[in-house]
Amino acid sequence: MSPANSGPEMRPGSALLIRELLHRVRTWAPRGTITYRDRLELTYAEWLARVDRLGGWLKALGVGPGDRVGVMDWDSHRYLELFFAVPMSGAALHTVNVRLTPEQAGYTIQHAQDTVLFVHVDFLPLLAAMKPHLSGVRHVVVLADGPWNAPEGLPCAGEYEEELAKATPVSEWPDLPEDTMATLFYTTGTTGEPKGVSFSHRQIVLHTMTAGLTLAVHEDPVSFRADDVYLPLTPMFHVHAWGLPFLATMLGAKQVYPGKYEPQMLLHLLETHQVTFSHCVPTLLQMLLHHPQSGTVNWRRLKLVIGGAALLPAVAREAQSRGIRIVGGYGMSETCPIVAIAHIKPELASGSEDDRLGLLTRTGFPLPMVQVKIVDGAGQAVPPGTVGELVLRSPWLTHGYLGDDASSDRLWRGGWLHTGDGALLDSDGYLRITDRLKDVIKIGGEWISSLEIEAALARHPAVREVAVIGVPDAKWDEHPRAEVVLREGLESVTSRELVRHLHAVIETGVIHKRAILTEVVLVSAIPKTSVGKVDKKRMREAAKAMVA
Ligand code: ADP
Repeated sequence: MSPANSGPEMRPGSALLIRELLHRVRTWAPRGTITYRDRLELTYAEWLARVDRLGGWLKALGVGPGDRVGVMDWDSHRYLELFFAVPMSGAALHTVNVRLTPEQAGYTIQHAQDTVLFVHVDFLPLLAAMKPHLSGVRHVVVLADGPWNAPEGLPCAGEYEEELAKATPVSEWPDLPEDTMATLFYTTGTTGEPKGVSFSHRQIVLHTMTAGLTLAVHEDPVSFRADDVYLPLTPMFHVHAWGLPFLATMLGAKQVYPGKYEPQMLLHLLETHQVTFSHCVPTLLQMLLHHPQSGTVNWRRLKLVIGGAALLPAVAREAQSRGIRIVGGYGMSETCPIVAIAHIKPELASGSEDDRLGLLTRTGFPLPMVQVKIVDGAGQAVPPGTVGELVLRSPWLTHGYLGDDASSDRLWRGGWLHTGDGALLDSDGYLRITDRLKDVIKIGGEWISSLEIEAALARHPAVREVAVIGVPDAKWDEHPRAEVVLREGLESVTSRELVRHLHAVIETGVIHKRAILTEVVLVSAIPKTSVGKVDKKRMREAAKAMVA
């Protein structure tokens, strides 16, 4: 449809393409650096030359518009090259979740119709186990830091570095329609088969620009600027590491890619490169802070965005006590992902420390160009302060699931993207996720937020990690069951003591009275999903199996 008042036709260079993100950095930061573990340091000039060569090589492999290219790698400079070169060549980058089972990962490669795969040697066994799904794959390229072997029985196109060195660089990246699919990945499938979520060049560019703008104009408590040192702590296969590698590269910031997430290596890189900006799920932060060598890092220079799960005030306080500037954010796979960050409004900045903590753990303030609405079961907006389902509109939300119209229509019913999250908008306009709708605990007809109980228990000094689920209850339908991991050195604390602590919090009236029915169980570990988040589905299944 052409607009009634359309001007002259669009000219080359005016489409929102990932290619456009790279123009400025070529001259702004040619001597800036992109580092891989403690193995390799490239200047931006060298890295950009590699991207151009990768483009030529992809072309030689027959990759072009309409193709899908799968990647199985740890977070690396090579992955970053593929982040740009694959979409810029017109193909879609499929960031394969390497923590899925061979059956699931194979399913995603087959469903995505990947014709070329870039696979780190560490994932060759996984690749071998998914062979029945790989009949459509024309080339497998091996990524290696040392010796490598060709995968058996698959068409191997060689090793990345060797082939890249021989490739002829592209002189000009193609003009593409801005709605061309740029990235594709699969949701971790808490129910049913994994679903393919894709984003276009236009969406990636708008997400990059808006997240970058928001993080640049708001300092309090966390900003991201061109002079920051960036290290991702969210895997690049998980919603493109929240899109921040695109932003860091556009800015020409110094970047450090950690490869496989090994806690000691992460701590070493954070300290050696004096990293100032990162982002992760809360469980990863906890893991780093509680590592025996966490004292080797000067945390005071770090600014951290926490997302993917609620940032509990107790966790934020602990991070702050180490000197970290921390803030919560919100998003999901289907939203590219960032739609809200809990920056502190200037008019609220002078509040007490407790008020400020309350704000920065409030889930987030919507980014520019994001419309938020809270609706009831009939899709009607509820009054401010009331809990309902969060629905969204924004230029960078996925249009639907690949090849699954029924689920796409369900996601977008009524013209709004349904997040499946219970939430409220408070009087200051901040978004507060109260719970995933499927995690809400139904006690005798009343709905209780599992996050509320988690936050209350996390206030006890002995609690290192906590997760709450609803378990079947003959009298109440469900009651809350909290699984708690205690801090090292405080293992003598009993579940009874934690129950007493919870009751004292309930007495103060800040959480629902029926939370009094919570049973507290001490465990040595809480199950995690493939992206490191608490896996409540598995917890519920285990609890059910125990009852059966
Ligand atoms: P999955 O659903 O497989 O975990 P996502 O990474 O897309 O995949 O997770 C998005 C979900 O994570 C959101 O729908 C929400 O339930 C939860 N989430 C993300 N950020 C927050 C937050 N700041 N507070 C509470 N929950 C969050």
